[in-house]
Amino acid sequence: MGLLTNVVGNETQEEKINRLWESAKKLDWSDAERQKAVGIYTELLGMIDESTPSFNVCAIFRNRGISYRHLKNYDAALQDFARELEIARRRDDQMRVMECQKITEETQEQKRKAEIEAGGGEKAAKLRAMADLEMNLWGNTPDAGRAFESLFADLENEDADVRAEASRLLADPPKSAQRLIAVFEECRETNPYRSQLAGRVLGRKITKGMDHTIHSQIARMMYGLNISFIPCGCVHCGFFNKGIAAPPNGPMMAYYHQVDDKGAYAIPVLCDRCGKKFFVVWDSNPL
Ligand SMILES: [Zn+2]
Repeated sequence: MGLLTNVVGNETQEEKINRLWESAKKLDWSDAERQKAVGIYTELLGMIDESTPSFNVCAIFRNRGISYRHLKNYDAALQDFARELEIARRRDDQMRVMECQKITEETQEQKRKAEIEAGGGEKAAKLRAMADLEMNLWGNTPDAGRAFESLFADLENEDADVRAEASRLLADPPKSAQRLIAVFEECRETNPYRSQLAGRVLGRKITKGMDHTIHSQIARMMYGLNISFIPCGCVHCGFFNKGIAAPPNGPMMAYYHQVDDKGAYAIPVLCDRCGKKFFVVWDSNPL
């Protein structure tokens, strides 16, 4: 009576689901265990679908996707996140939609980076050198200052992948984020272009997974800056550039893109895709 084998033998579907789910969660992050986890999640997806009331199928897609990503199977991971996103959107689960968009974006970045590394050559070497510099950003030594300036210069690199990587590396270390905030503030009047390059790194980070405006309350909470972040299409190539630092009232007033800065208020922007400069312009001052 009550032997474990008996229980397993007679377990209900729901008990089986829970048992598999719990066993997958206990696996570690070695490749072998991740491979096992993928197997368990795949088995679970054979028992669970969108109509299963006691279990959220999105959680399984998410976990299997993360396992695939760990195994560097980026395409399979992206497929699982796409399934999760589609279901979450239909259910109007906003929190999950945002998380999933962020994870998708990060996975696409990792995939791109892996492709560059696999391609070897100068570009792969450049990314490795940048990663080495990033280690210095966590400290407070003169090396940190030099690493910051070197990566900051790469925000204007002619290669879009290098620019994007520089932005990612500068955004994470807390000391680097403090430097960015200082550059943004100090250069606002004297060198608006440099100020905007710094603001954009902060903006790309805060808008990851989202394509809409970040209002000033959130920007203040995250960075202590009285600004907002807006999206704007590039005037040259049409690419939708996100996370452009703007005055707090910027999102509430009409703005448009231009090749020049003629207007009541203008912000210089470097396009993430084509690398050309354009301006976001307001007809009246949105401060
Ligand atoms: Zn462009």
